[in-house]
Amino acid sequence: MSPSPKTASKPELDFGNAWEYAAAPEGTKVSIEPKYGLFVNGEFCAPRSKRYMDSINPATEEVLSKVAIANQADVDKAVAAAKAAFPKWKRLKPSERAKYLFRIARRIQERARELAVLETLDGGKPIKESRDVDIPEAAKHFFYHAGWADKLDYVFPGRKGTPIGVCAQIIPWNFPLLMAAWKIAPALACGNTVVLKPAETTSLTALRLAEIFQEVGLPPGVVNIVTGAGNTGAALAAHKDVKKLAFTGSTGVGKELARNLAGSGKRLTLELGGKSPNIIFEDASIDQAVDGVVQGIYFNQGHVCCAGSRLFVQEGVMDEVLARLKVRIESLRVGDPLDKNTDLGAINSIGQLATIKRYIEAGNSEGAQMFQSAAKLPKHGYWCKPTWFTDVQPSHTIAREEIFGPVLSVMSFRTPEEALMRANNTPYGLAAGVWTDKGSKIFEIASRLKAGVVWCNSYNRFDAASPFGGFKQSGFGREGGRQGLLSYLELKS
Ligand code: ADP
Repeated sequence: MSPSPKTASKPELDFGNAWEYAAAPEGTKVSIEPKYGLFVNGEFCAPRSKRYMDSINPATEEVLSKVAIANQADVDKAVAAAKAAFPKWKRLKPSERAKYLFRIARRIQERARELAVLETLDGGKPIKESRDVDIPEAAKHFFYHAGWADKLDYVFPGRKGTPIGVCAQIIPWNFPLLMAAWKIAPALACGNTVVLKPAETTSLTALRLAEIFQEVGLPPGVVNIVTGAGNTGAALAAHKDVKKLAFTGSTGVGKELARNLAGSGKRLTLELGGKSPNIIFEDASIDQAVDGVVQGIYFNQGHVCCAGSRLFVQEGVMDEVLARLKVRIESLRVGDPLDKNTDLGAINSIGQLATIKRYIEAGNSEGAQMFQSAAKLPKHGYWCKPTWFTDVQPSHTIAREEIFGPVLSVMSFRTPEEALMRANNTPYGLAAGVWTDKGSKIFEIASRLKAGVVWCNSYNRFDAASPFGGFKQSGFGREGGRQGLLSYLELKS
């Protein structure tokens, strides 16, 4: 098995003519099939369920395509394909596995514009984020893990790593292609095979990735993609031939999966919700910090598990921070995600918009003071103005629960001890930010924050070489870096 490029077989050709979205930046044309089947054993196929769901552009509410809903029989077929492919993939020379990963990474780069436009159409995020973050980072994850494939013996010196088997991977809708890359790349590098389930509102770039797998000649069955909603995910997680589940999504579903899998012998990693603190000390560079706060909560409309949704400001600089924050927020452009000047795109789905609105109502009814930017919102589509609340008490719903939208809760503190106590006072522990000019304070605070990632004088920076994951109810296990490989290997001493 050595990588040999071939032309992608067109998914579901008999369903009608593709239409092209020509209004994309720099004339990038993206063809979208009217219907997509499942990707099993290297081929696109109609679902045995015969059922499809709409994939909607949240900025216009138009139906982009129909995507298959996989049932138990479809999941069985996909897992069987992954199981059949495993022995050969596992035995393949690691340097050969690496070649496939390198080719996938290169092909993502070559098709980057198309992927960026498709990601933005399907999910609503600003094109500048798809173009500059999601797609390049997805390629980086394949490059990074390609580099590891033939060096696994160095990962844990003195121990031999062996792949686990069929890995089920369930991903959310906030970074669709990037989450697929986070999950698939390390699994393949370690010699596992995969069944991936994208989120129901954002399956299109994962299916495009399947085309790339065909193009680079990835052996059939090594990665299979089943689309669908929660029932499809539950069937996949429960399948007896799945040896490991990697899940990124809500804490509620993560807990349910942990309960269901207990005693099954399956390996499990969970990357769940967050309510991350972003702490500004009086000695911080305030302009830089305010930029970091905006980046922390309004990036990707706040649909970010590590979003800096709780802002703690030292009392002496509160007025200054709020004044500058208001100016910055008022300058954010909300609207057409395909416009490269847009800062906040559409909310991913009508359901998520309703959730965000409920939290905004709770903030108002519980006594916090709401501010919203004066941005004008488009008539169609799902939108939420950049929103922030002051006079927030730690007991308020908006200070405790994950909103997953562009809503910031601002609170004050007097001393570093109080900042730490309040920042750690949450069931979550995914990320945190610290803004100060004092190096010693950074180290002290960072070491005592209970969070898997602590950004110092920055926020929402990612690196394939850096392990990402949570403390407490934000989950367990790490993705990325050397540590992320451990989730996809059995170790022998
Ligand atoms: P959100 O509420 O933000 O949509 P979810 O946790 O519901 O987050 O979704 C994350 C992923 O988990 C999606 O791919 C979704 O289809 C899937 N999912 C939802 N419910 C279940 C379930 N009971 N079992 C397995 N997967 C599920």
